[in-house]
Amino acid sequence: MEKAGHPSRVSPQAEAPHGAITTASGSADAGWPPPIPPWAAPRIWAAATASVDHHLQLRHIGLHRPTRHCARAIAEVMVSLDPPMTALAQATCPDCVDPCCRRATLWYDLADLLAIGFLGLPWPPGQPMRSVGAPCRYLGPGGCRLARLHRPWICTWYLCPRQRSMLNSDLRSEAAAVTSRLAAMKTLRVRLVETFIEASGRA
Ligand code: SF4
Repeated sequence: MEKAGHPSRVSPQAEAPHGAITTASGSADAGWPPPIPPWAAPRIWAAATASVDHHLQLRHIGLHRPTRHCARAIAEVMVSLDPPMTALAQATCPDCVDPCCRRATLWYDLADLLAIGFLGLPWPPGQPMRSVGAPCRYLGPGGCRLARLHRPWICTWYLCPRQRSMLNSDLRSEAAAVTSRLAAMKTLRVRLVETFIEASGRA
């Protein structure tokens, strides 16, 4: 199972993407998420992805060039994050007795949709949760069935306590690079949404 995320020194409140990984002691972000993930109904999911597709068709007038640039930068950071995050997942998830992918409340947010759309990736069939409390639809017998770029960002951002400890000990040489890439992703995702909204206002 592929789970990854933030080192312990990164504040969840400061960094939290949309969604929550609940723990035995409760949600990682009290009061959040709301009870129903956004765009979960198939009709609304189709409308959300179609609205991004609509803007992608404006590419010939160059309006969304900055958004596309951000999406490519996001892809580069994700590619560089994949080896350490995959190593953490492979070292911890197979023998985990309570895998977060089975009980996490999480969803694609606007930045996730924009990154997928502007990178030209196919749309996932829907939000990970079909209903509140259901396991992620993308969880297969061997773990996550999605490539990292196709997952909600929270799936890469989140580190369970065991993974956090392993990053800070066994993978200590990677920790600084991982922390800086996670911070870069925060900035890029904000910029992605900002450039999209700015350009959309001019469309
Ligand atoms: S998309 Fe689902 S199965 Fe994949 S890492 Fe995220 S929660 Fe786990």
